[in-house]
Amino acid sequence: MTHRHYWLLIPAAGIGQRMAADIPKQYLQIDDRYIIDITLSRLLSTGHFAGCVVALHPDDTHWPLTDSASDERIITCIGGAERVDSVRSGLDILSDRAAKDDWVLVHDVARPCLNLADLARLIETLEDEPVGGLLAVPVSDTIKRSGNAGQVETTVNRADLWRAMTPQQFRYGLLVEALAQAQADGATITDESSAVEAAGYHPRLIEGRADNIKITVPEDLALAGWILRHLDN
Ligand code: C5P
Repeated sequence: MTHRHYWLLIPAAGIGQRMAADIPKQYLQIDDRYIIDITLSRLLSTGHFAGCVVALHPDDTHWPLTDSASDERIITCIGGAERVDSVRSGLDILSDRAAKDDWVLVHDVARPCLNLADLARLIETLEDEPVGGLLAVPVSDTIKRSGNAGQVETTVNRADLWRAMTPQQFRYGLLVEALAQAQADGATITDESSAVEAAGYHPRLIEGRADNIKITVPEDLALAGWILRHLDN
């Protein structure tokens, strides 16, 4: 087995507008712990990573209050206006540490419930892959496409549809180039995979658990708390 370094990159520069809270959602608490601390401590506890970069909002005043702020495994950088800007800023910080073929795992700070067995399976499945892949969940609901007036236009065949989650794992050099190119082309990039796809690659879909939710709206907070209390890892 070739030894590769794995780097964890956590974009955490979002303000979580849909959460309608006074503070960015990653600084809301579940069982008296900041979401950002839960996410970071769970992932870093696995020992998979050579290092970790967290991209923070330029006006972030909460980070120094977290347990993670004193974790020496974590480097911070300033994120940007869009998620992709924050990810690129994190990749930049890694430029003198990561080799081209090293793996980078990008994980949303607002997904503290990632099952660590899924993380291990993602890493193991991709070990010899040249490009990378992502955790995803097959769509189980029937999907409708709407027309202009909010009525059903058509029902979409869900057989080959997946919901993209994180971590998304790619080779460092390839991801840097794909994101730069996609941004230069003015593409809409909502995840790393879409940039890699635009570069002509086909990232692998690795089925993960549906309870790896992204805390987005207020009701997700209680749900995430329940999931975290019932996880077996
Ligand atoms: O808002 P949403 O939850 O979709 O954002 C996904 C992830 O991207 C979050 O971890 C958020 O903090 C991060 N993000 C970022 N920089 C931005 C926007 C979002 O790091 N400008």
